[in-house]
Formats: sequence, structure tokens, C-alpha cells
Amino acid sequence: MRAMNDLDAARDTLAALGRGFHAHGWVPATAGNFSIRLDNGQIVMTRSGRHKGRLTAEGFMRLDGLGQPLDEGTPSAEAGLHVALYRRWPEIRCVLHTHSPRATVLSRRRGKHVTLADYELLKAFDGIDTHEMEIELPVFDNDQDIAALGARVNTWLDRHPAPPGYLIRGHGLYTWGRNPEATERHVEALEFLFECELLASR
Ligand SMILES: [Zn+2]
Repeated sequence: MRAMNDLDAARDTLAALGRGFHAHGWVPATAGNFSIRLDNGQIVMTRSGRHKGRLTAEGFMRLDGLGQPLDEGTPSAEAGLHVALYRRWPEIRCVLHTHSPRATVLSRRRGKHVTLADYELLKAFDGIDTHEMEIELPVFDNDQDIAALGARVNTWLDRHPAPPGYLIRGHGLYTWGRNPEATERHVEALEFLFECELLASR
């Protein structure tokens, strides 16, 4: 991606991610939402109800750093969850939310967290340079009240080391990173690890 203050580059990057994720079946039927934070602090966010495999420039809108719309229209219903992550960590620049079958099924089979231990691919996450460790992804019960869900996420994140993502039960994955490439890598690595967990528990 070019400079992070480039609105067109942000939209192009997210549209390309949407095509790839849709081809994998990770954002079916308008599900999921994506965002990038620009250098000026504005958040470029997918609009509500857009097909993520066919995003055009018109499928995005800008929010300010507090989540207030800067363009006309309706942002994704879950925009508040993106904004909360950006407010928590100034260094992150991209948030990706997917609804894959693996994330959906695994989150229904686990309790309050998914533990990923001793996988070589854990090295895909920033700050991890060995497979000899485990990470804990929290699983939050789904809620149509996004503010209430966001409050539960925030309370958990206040009390734990930063995970590379979190799951919402029967719903999907949120992950983030210091740029879109790192965040895409997190989605791919977590999808792989979710598949391993499901294969191992058959
Ligand atoms: Zn969702």
C-alpha cells in the first residue's frame, strides 16, 4: 500500500482484500467489515450491507477518530468495535472482521477462549519468534447490541495481554495490525490455525 494518508490507496487495498477473502468464503453474503486508519487519524470503513467481494470506492466512508461519520451514509453496524480497537492501540492501522465457517464453528465449540499452542505458524504474529508458546484468543458471546458487546471486549482487553484477535461466538473473527499486510497475514494465519484446531478435534 502507498502512503497511509491516501484515501484511494486505502479503498483499493481493502477492496482487494475483500475479493480475496470472498473467494476463500470468509465474508459471505455481505458479511464482514474492514477498515484502515489514515495518517490524519481518519478511519476508512466499509459501508453497511456491501458485498465484500465487489467493493468499489462508493462502498466506503470515512469516520473521525471517535467514530463520527465524515461522509453521508451508514457505516458498518460494527464500526464501534473497529473504533474501540484504534482508540486502544495508536500503532494499529487496519482492522479486519470476517465471518468464516471455521471461525463460526470453532467459536461455538469452545468456552471463553481458544488456546493455540506450539504451532509453527504462531510466528505469523508480531512479536512471536518461536512455536514454543501459546496464545489465548477470547471468545465473546454474540450480541446485537454492539455497544454492550464492545464494553465486554474492552473490559477483557483491559485485563489481559493483547491477543492477535478475538472471536464472537457463532459470528466471526476480529483481528488487527500495524498495516494492512500484517492484518491480512493475521487473518490467514488464524484461519489456518482454526482449521488445525477443528481437524484435531474431530
Ligand atoms: Zn460481523
